[in-house]
Amino acid sequence: MQLIERINRQLTGYYSRESRAMVSLVLVFAALSLLFSLSSWGRAVPPSIGTPLGIIHEIPDVIGHLLFGMLACLPSRQRPLIVTGGLLGVVLDADHLGRLIGFPLLSRASHSVGFLIVAAIAVGLFTRQGYLKLRVTSWTASAIAAAIVVGHIALDAFIGYGSVPMLAPFSFTEYTFSRIEGLELEVIAFLLVLAARQLNSKAMP
Ligand SMILES: [Zn+2]
Repeated sequence: MQLIERINRQLTGYYSRESRAMVSLVLVFAALSLLFSLSSWGRAVPPSIGTPLGIIHEIPDVIGHLLFGMLACLPSRQRPLIVTGGLLGVVLDADHLGRLIGFPLLSRASHSVGFLIVAAIAVGLFTRQGYLKLRVTSWTASAIAAAIVVGHIALDAFIGYGSVPMLAPFSFTEYTFSRIEGLELEVIAFLLVLAARQLNSKAMP
């Protein structure tokens, strides 16, 4: 909590309140994804470490996650939230980092219902306590966090990486979504944010 507040304070004077809220939310979400991935410790053999230039191959995926995250948040009709949604869609892949640096972790532990619940509760609580300074209710913030997880898995399925440990951290068995199911998941993500907007229309002008 103090770390979030310190980051917020250090950014004061440089960026608008909305920009600071966006940066805080993105950092919190990435940290949650990275921490959650530790639940898969020992579930995979340590990988051989690739070249950093390998990240270049990920650029189309990053753009896809940006677009799917933004699309899911369109119903919020708040430009900062839509941009933030795109960034959240990208940083959910922070769960790859542990494996990238050679730890015996699954690379996609946060692509799961378990992480969806953790992220929705944590982002909702941080919003309610005022740490994230978002212009939405805590329920809407939770719905956005959940929609981002669904929308991220949607894009992965759509581009052919649809195998995810859905029930992590309780089971790391991988479930595979088809490309069509990927599109259906993106519709669900969109509807989640739309429902949150309808239910909280006073809080989301
Ligand atoms: Zn992914």
